[in-house]
Amino acid sequence: MLFEKLGLQLDSVMKEPKYIFVTGGVCSSLGKGIVAASTATILKSAGLRVSIMKLDPYLNVDPGTMSPFQHGEVFVLEDGGETDLDLGHYERFIDVPISSLCTVTTGKVYKEVLEEEREGKYLGGTIQIVPHITGKIQQKVEKAARDLDLDVLVVEIGGTVGDIEGEPFLEVIREMKNTYGSSRVLTQHVTLLPYLAASKELKTKPTQLSVKELRRVGIHPDIIFCRADVKIPEKLLAKVGFFCDVPVEAVLPAETVKSIYEVPLRFQKYNLGNLIAERLELGDLTFDLDEWEQGIHKLLNTKEELVIGLAGKYNELDDAYLSVIESAKFAGFKHAKNVKIEWIDTEKIEASNKKELLKLESVAGIIVPGGFGNRGIEGKIQVAKYCREKKKPYLGLCLGSQIMALDFARHVLGIKDADSEEFDEGHRSKNHVIHFIPEQRDIRKKGGTMRLGAYPCVLAEDSISAKLYGKTEISERHRHRYEFNNSYREQFEAAGFKIAGVSPDNELVEVVEVKDHPFMIGAQYHPEFLSRPFKPHPLFDGFIALLLYGFMAPRN
Ligand code: GLN
Repeated sequence: MLFEKLGLQLDSVMKEPKYIFVTGGVCSSLGKGIVAASTATILKSAGLRVSIMKLDPYLNVDPGTMSPFQHGEVFVLEDGGETDLDLGHYERFIDVPISSLCTVTTGKVYKEVLEEEREGKYLGGTIQIVPHITGKIQQKVEKAARDLDLDVLVVEIGGTVGDIEGEPFLEVIREMKNTYGSSRVLTQHVTLLPYLAASKELKTKPTQLSVKELRRVGIHPDIIFCRADVKIPEKLLAKVGFFCDVPVEAVLPAETVKSIYEVPLRFQKYNLGNLIAERLELGDLTFDLDEWEQGIHKLLNTKEELVIGLAGKYNELDDAYLSVIESAKFAGFKHAKNVKIEWIDTEKIEASNKKELLKLESVAGIIVPGGFGNRGIEGKIQVAKYCREKKKPYLGLCLGSQIMALDFARHVLGIKDADSEEFDEGHRSKNHVIHFIPEQRDIRKKGGTMRLGAYPCVLAEDSISAKLYGKTEISERHRHRYEFNNSYREQFEAAGFKIAGVSPDNELVEVVEVKDHPFMIGAQYHPEFLSRPFKPHPLFDGFIALLLYGFMAPRN
């Protein structure tokens, strides 16, 4: 076959995936990720196979080692990829597991190209940003679309147009559009119309300039999304269209809405799906966003509040716990309640700060999320002790489950020096109730070396968790180095600390529950990565339902 001789697969030649690139202009934090996710949601609703990819211009190989202060939470994929929080948005919107193929950074690209250079792949050649780096980026974009057998791949470019480090990515868009043409490559540009209170008007000039910058590198945007905090008059959209040389029906208002989950509906109101279908020649599509319509209706009409505590390390930093907060909110939506977060600063708990201690009483229940390092750990153990003794609902996620074990060891079993190997740097404790996962012990490199991604877990039939999940075999995503020490299992179980879930070989403890407590559950994994807006995760659902009704919600 000619195709095979050319090294091409027949189905990839026939199918020809389409690409939608999303760039951002004017400033950061405009919600490009939400635009990308909403675009994909609309296309998926028409039955297309879609996924979303993030191309990040920074030099880290992945965000796994970046501080949540700088970069928000690390979102973990099914296959163990440690990624940017935008991938979390993508999954929550399209409800399709995203592959590691869909997360690429400049660091990853350079690392591969330089490794190939050392191996001698380019012998005799001079390696350059164009075409070698850009070629590698393009290869990765096309590989993702092909390997995942997609109809459309939406690709978000991190950063803002005009950033030095973003240029190679823009060059890839230019080249791909040139090679494949407008029926296979579409570009969306997200900009801001700033509001000037003095003159009471929105301004279009920054948008014009950012489009000019795009055109300087050879990209003419097909669709422009104008972000604004107030309603955008039609004539302004027409003005943007005129000055940026884009037909007015392709200039979409993207005004700030109450919930990000409204965005796909808003965009489809302006026929985004139809516009894309026409440009990319996708045929006659019917977009069915009924599930979203109903879900959003419920969400927007939810008035009552439920306040829960979040005892993390990065207080007031929503992005550091984005998936946890969203998961709690989704469970709230299901029961028509707005979940509000009260931050509990565990360093202040350590200092016996009255106001902070009072919060433990005032909130309906407490989540202790994942985390690393020993800042605030003693305070977290106090929070767990309080919840256990006062029978206050407690949900421990990863580190939060380890904290549960430490409280139980110290205050129920009387093992005063019980500690985690992670926090006991001076090796003062003889009782590492939490210790290194055996195969983690000798690993020194920090990037991508934890126990990462989805692993199966078996729940005890008589556990609360099994009731909540409605089954005993589950699969959940992990990101940790430490683990419950099996030599303490019997002692714990005998005193009422239930090992409620284990790995199928019974080697690793995955879920723990305190008996005779309405809800004190710890998961060594991260259930928050699997919660979806209209399908809350069973552990969050059960936790919120218990707070509201005093008993766990039946599954539906
Ligand atoms: N620091 C703990 C560990 O590595 C918990 C990790 C987490 O909460 N993600 O096991």
